[in-house]
Amino acid sequence: MERSSELFERAKQVLPGGVNSPVRAYRAVGMPPRFISKADGAYIWDVDGKQYIDYVCSWGPMILGHNHPVIRQAVQEAVMNGLSFGAPTQPEVEIAELMTRMVPNIEMVRMVNSGTEAVMSALRLARGATGREKIIKFEGCYHGHSDCMLVKAGSSAMAGGCPDSAGVPAGTAKDTLMAQYNDLDSVQRLFDENPGQVACVIVEPVAANMGVVGPQPGFLEGLRSICDKEGALLIFDEVITGFRLAKGGAQEYFGVRADIVTFGKIIGGGMPVGAYAGSRELMEHVAPCGPVYQAGTLAGNPVAMAAGLAQLRYLDEHPEVYTTIAAGADKLANGMRQAAQAAGAGVQINQVGSLVAPFFTPDTVASFAGAKRSDLKKYAAYFAKMLERGIYLAPAQFEAMFVSFAHTEEDLEKTIAVVKDVFEELSR
Ligand SMILES: *Cc1c(COP(=O)(O)O)cnc(C)c1O
Repeated sequence: MERSSELFERAKQVLPGGVNSPVRAYRAVGMPPRFISKADGAYIWDVDGKQYIDYVCSWGPMILGHNHPVIRQAVQEAVMNGLSFGAPTQPEVEIAELMTRMVPNIEMVRMVNSGTEAVMSALRLARGATGREKIIKFEGCYHGHSDCMLVKAGSSAMAGGCPDSAGVPAGTAKDTLMAQYNDLDSVQRLFDENPGQVACVIVEPVAANMGVVGPQPGFLEGLRSICDKEGALLIFDEVITGFRLAKGGAQEYFGVRADIVTFGKIIGGGMPVGAYAGSRELMEHVAPCGPVYQAGTLAGNPVAMAAGLAQLRYLDEHPEVYTTIAAGADKLANGMRQAAQAAGAGVQINQVGSLVAPFFTPDTVASFAGAKRSDLKKYAAYFAKMLERGIYLAPAQFEAMFVSFAHTEEDLEKTIAVVKDVFEELSR
């Protein structure tokens, strides 16, 4: 704790809240954050030398675990040739070829530097291609911090109490229409009220920034058919689900086609990368082919591409990653559920693929309203006890636990044992 606390005091003098991204400040759990010095496989170490089993996994990118030798080597080799050229390179072609082969319904890719940028650009493309201005998003879904997406956003925006950020112009927010996740009627109503004006519906196919809430049967299919009927585009924000639920992401996992798909997190292997992708016809609206402008000095950066390409190749060649992480998450979720039952704790454990989240409520959570019923004080207490016992979780309720390929049976069993103790203590 000592060195973390010292660093945090210094950090608060020079970084707003002591951090470069709000959730890291641990405000939702009311304690100072741990500063991290290194990570390897399923483990992470803080600057005081304490080791944890890590379920944050850098918020998703580290699907193979930390410091994977294949990715590390690719980065080391790339670095030897220079860090950035601002010119086309071979790895950019190779990663786009690989992505279009692994993911259904995409023919062209544009690389950017973050998930936020991917979404921002995808929305511009949807508006440019349809000539319409309004967009539909879902309350509690997080799509990065661009102006028009910071309306009723999930994740740390919500934990920090500002799902609607200051500084977003009213004129921008007015074009973002708000629907309810897993509620098709709420979507159709918005189309009815705004005939011919909606460019796109953007959705996290699995809502993973309100905890984890999966789509109910028919929800994604229903969005597809509403969009087709209304001439709007369907955007899957797969910044979390892409290359995680399956090689082809949520489109493959749920068998529903999206028009534009956004990526981030996993495709950078831990480096800052995002991308948006779609059919050739759509993507050729983007500059220099078409009138939708979008550019980036460091886009397709050779070191970042090397990391991403190495990770995606590994995933392509090792389909057992997907069965293993899903089985690991099954084991974890079942173990946590049994622990909750044994302790008589009113806790729901949601799981989709390798994504898991507990909610401290006796009721099933299938919507944003349901997620909000979770007892946040209980989450904070649970978080603190888990951290103390060497389990590193997201320091806020409205996030996911990520099971990686590096988590062993033993790691999962140890985690379940700790959860069992902690749930018992919490229900005393
Ligand atoms: C993390 C996330 C983003 C934003 O990505 P950044 O790289 O943090 O800008 C967008 N959409 C979803 C679904 C995310 O989980």
